[in-house]
Amino acid sequence: MKILISNDDGYQAPGIVALYEALRDLSGVEVEVVAPEHNNSAKSNALTLHSPLYVHQSSNGFRYVNGTPADCVHIALTGLLGYRPDLVVSGINNGANMGDDTIYSGTVGAAMEGYLFGIPAIAFSQTEKGWAHLDAAASKARQLVLQLLPSLSGTSRSHEPWLLNVNIPNRPVNDIQGFKVARLGRRHAAEQVIAQTNPRGETMYWIGSAGPAKDDAEGTDFHATAQGYASITPLQVDLTDHDRLPYWAPVAAQLSQHPTDTGRESA
Ligand code: MN
Repeated sequence: MKILISNDDGYQAPGIVALYEALRDLSGVEVEVVAPEHNNSAKSNALTLHSPLYVHQSSNGFRYVNGTPADCVHIALTGLLGYRPDLVVSGINNGANMGDDTIYSGTVGAAMEGYLFGIPAIAFSQTEKGWAHLDAAASKARQLVLQLLPSLSGTSRSHEPWLLNVNIPNRPVNDIQGFKVARLGRRHAAEQVIAQTNPRGETMYWIGSAGPAKDDAEGTDFHATAQGYASITPLQVDLTDHDRLPYWAPVAAQLSQHPTDTGRESA
């Protein structure tokens, strides 16, 4: 059983060290780390196409890449590792990846890259920044991976990969209620951009914080984690709005009936 570990906070982040330490001594498991050299939070699934990537190895064995989380998993799976891992795990992230965070998250991006290659994958995050009770989060991550290991083994390996997004409240391990399956909630739109003047008198902009929870109803990841549970959300990649396919079909049909009508007078 081989597990590839990545993250978006960088290979030196406490979260990835804790995840590695939690999984490395599972029986019959080999773990390897390929992670970004620097913090790549909010890089989603970005790939680096216009500059070269370099891989170096830290004294603790972790390999690090001057690229994004998805770069790390991509090059690991397409040549660097030389084998196909049975599971890709990402994290443990410094802060929540709930609701629409999942669209931006590099932690989810790294896991999603594994999933896109047909490998089961899990993204782990702590709901608050600052690494409080990281040992508890690592312990819950270990518990979940241990539970899933039999389904990943050669004979019982399912044909369909899956992608899990897991958020763990920053609590002592005995105060975490357990795991709860939850759908993604929603956040309000982000805070205003922050404009400042640099020493040369030029205006610069800082992206504002993510908004507060807008939909944190029962059944959401926001609700489950607020109740003290670690939330498990199965994710899919198909962004198609299937319910609205019929709504847009007549629009396409109408456009097709008048293929040259662009609203301009013809000469
Ligand atoms: Mn991060």
